[in-house]
Amino acid sequence: MSDYHFDTLTIHAGQEPDPTTGAIMPPIYQTSTYVQPAPAEHKGYEYSRTDNPTRTALQDCFAALEGAKYGLAFASGMATTDTILRLLKPGDHVVVGNDVYGGTYRLFERVYARYGLHFSWVDLTDLDAVKAAFTPQTRLLWLETPTNPYLALADIEALAQLAPDGVIVAVDNTFASPALQQPLKLGAHIVMHSATKYLGGHSDVVGGILATNDAELYEQLKFLQNAVGAVPAPLDCFLVLRGIKTLSVRMERHCENAMKIARFLEDHPAVKRVYYPGLESHPQHELAKRQMRAFGGMVSIILENEAVAKLMVTRTKLFSLAESLGGVESLIEHPYSMTHASTADSDIAVNPALVRLSVGIEHVEDLMADLQQALTD
Ligand SMILES: *Cc1c(COP(=O)(O)O)cnc(C)c1O
Repeated sequence: MSDYHFDTLTIHAGQEPDPTTGAIMPPIYQTSTYVQPAPAEHKGYEYSRTDNPTRTALQDCFAALEGAKYGLAFASGMATTDTILRLLKPGDHVVVGNDVYGGTYRLFERVYARYGLHFSWVDLTDLDAVKAAFTPQTRLLWLETPTNPYLALADIEALAQLAPDGVIVAVDNTFASPALQQPLKLGAHIVMHSATKYLGGHSDVVGGILATNDAELYEQLKFLQNAVGAVPAPLDCFLVLRGIKTLSVRMERHCENAMKIARFLEDHPAVKRVYYPGLESHPQHELAKRQMRAFGGMVSIILENEAVAKLMVTRTKLFSLAESLGGVESLIEHPYSMTHASTADSDIAVNPALVRLSVGIEHVEDLMADLQQALTD
């Protein structure tokens, strides 16, 4: 199966037509338990927290997309991150990028810091700063690339090489999706996603997923998946699996639309700055070309000030004002007061004049017209 191209894997990996009925889609195994012929004898499934066939199909499909041997699905992106953090113990130290999803910051500093984990927040574009942040207690390097909301890139290959032996390198690949970048091939040990975003792709499910090639890490994470129990429902697994089937074609259109919109906004007098890895003006455009197959569907802009930013996000008609991203429909939001409110008083607070766009797959001319009217007095 792994010999097939990515586009073929999105549709077929982990899935066989049902041998008894011929059903082409994996059934939604809406069951909590499985009948056993004798005590402790079963057909691979005994209880649905531990394993469920619809979840297995999703995990195997996703693992193939990341070029991984093992996949594990969770109830949300945060539940996935939480499970990875549980590999650590009190006293351990984590090096993490200083531009991350607000919920990641909240989980690390407001939950895990209470359990004795220590975090150093560093600029991942500064390799010397990252190197200097490692201590003998460092057990995890946490990367997010491109970042949310500044769309800065971390050089996964360089950072994975820099990490001392014994440090787990984990990458939050939510913004790129495996269609654009496969971190395990660049030296990461674990790749994770909020499946709520591009993998699901239709804003109808919350989920999370990770993949690894390391058998030992997999055993520990699989143990935690069952022991902690933040597992996804069978229907949610089905929805993500269904979303993944169109990942390649969706990402193509997301990227194409976002590129045109980024150029349009770069030329717009009301826009002070555009952050998009596909623009020549992006400080890491060369890295983006090397590391990513295309540049993604997320665009961030800086407007005149906070009031102008807050006004713009209420004036768009096609771009809906909402948190989240990665769905077929275009969304717009104000990170400072919405997705990143949990960082507002911290060192990693975002610019209040920043507006974040999740560019959908509608016709690009309709999207540009909507932005134009929202930016016009
Ligand atoms: C949304 C998001 C998460 C959290 O995922 P949930 O599914 O909302 O729990 C983590 N990382 C990034 C980059 C995200 O955008």
